[in-house]
Amino acid sequence: MDFVLTKEEELFRKSVREFAEREIGPLEDQIEREDRIPDELIPKIAKAGLFGLPAEKKYGGGGGRYVDLAMAVEEIARVSGAVAFFVAVNYLPIIAIELNGTEEQKARFLPDLCTGKKIGSFSFTEPSTGTDPTEIQSTARLEGDHYVCNGRKEFCTNAEYDGTIVLFLRTGEEHTPDISAFIAEKNIAGYSTPPPWPLLGLRGMRVTNIALKDMHIPAENLLGGKNKGYPVLLNTIAVGKVDVSGAMLGIAQRALDESLKYVKGKTMRGKPISHFQMVQFLIAEIASEVEAARWLFYRSMNLVDHGMQTLQSQAMCKLFCAEMADRVCQKAIQLHGDYGYTKEFKAERLYRDAKFGGVVEGSNEVQRVIIARDILKG
Ligand SMILES: Cc1cc2nc3c(=O)[nH]c(=O)nc-3n(C[C@H](O)[C@H](O)[C@H](O)COP(=O)(O)OP(=O)(O)OC[C@H]3O[C@@H](n4cnc5c(N)ncnc54)[C@H](O)[C@@H]3O)c2cc1C
Repeated sequence: MDFVLTKEEELFRKSVREFAEREIGPLEDQIEREDRIPDELIPKIAKAGLFGLPAEKKYGGGGGRYVDLAMAVEEIARVSGAVAFFVAVNYLPIIAIELNGTEEQKARFLPDLCTGKKIGSFSFTEPSTGTDPTEIQSTARLEGDHYVCNGRKEFCTNAEYDGTIVLFLRTGEEHTPDISAFIAEKNIAGYSTPPPWPLLGLRGMRVTNIALKDMHIPAENLLGGKNKGYPVLLNTIAVGKVDVSGAMLGIAQRALDESLKYVKGKTMRGKPISHFQMVQFLIAEIASEVEAARWLFYRSMNLVDHGMQTLQSQAMCKLFCAEMADRVCQKAIQLHGDYGYTKEFKAERLYRDAKFGGVVEGSNEVQRVIIARDILKG
């Protein structure tokens, strides 16, 4: 199996790494302190071409190669998990429209999402469900040439930014999978967001609920057909799990980088603590875990690029990357000793950020259900 990055891919990775270190690195602590992404960073991300990676070039995108997208999310998350999710959540409406949109919808919505002129969101979760589409209760009712939408969505990333959102709403009977996907503009009449949720980690990531009160969406913005929202959700999330897997890998790599710096710099009885065998063992375990996750992740992205991914392969990748990052960041704190428990060192933040991977886009338990169901059905 050939699993080596091409020269072009290596160059792309290097350019994203340099961008992240140069432009995001100096803002890392500010983002954490102020709990928001500075506005001046947005045009820089756009200029670097990072907003539209999953879209075709004719819409202003990066060409839709998932290995590129994977490298971008990993490298940004190595510097800031919050910025990685800010960018990666933008990919979800792009992927949903690319995979399910009409030519007219693609031409109308993708260019602005690719250039960062509009910031994307993707909203499925509601108070009664984050996993089960049959429990979606917010509704869209056709009146003339518009759908009139009412209800409440929960936990939507980037929802307060102006831009484009893919919304999942009930268009059929209650407690059935008859939901539909819609492409809508945010912050129009009938759409409002309360202040963001205070989060355990990933400070800077803006996650809000959305109140829908007689919000009008043009009927031509229906995505994938009436009552066909569940397949749209599934095919988007199947590849969209790249966001979470890649970000978890980047966070874990940073935990390794920070641990190496610490154990080589911290001395005891005149020697760096890296001389202790138990410290060496922990470093070896962290490095091996990160390497294993990287292989699974890039293989998984390679499968997407070859149209061979399955829900199961993505679920395995996401489950492993999420649990790996949790374990690795915990060990990084251990290696830092008391200092790891303080905000003086990055290990503390990375540990909080890593916790996110296990709950979002289907919890670790739900990934296990998907994997087991597929394996056992044969
Ligand atoms: C910071 C943040 C950002 C988010 N951004 C978005 C966003 O942009 N768009 C969006 O739509 N959503 C978003 N979410 C929501 C997120 O995707 C959901 O929270 C997630 O899918 C889990 O859903 P839930 O919280 O409703 O959990 P539930 O489905 O209520 O699950 C609760 C618990 O029950 C367990 N459980 C549920 N079903 C099963 C099962 N079948 N078998 C075994 N155990 C099960 C779960 O593992 C979990 O432990 C975000 C969440 C957070 C915290």
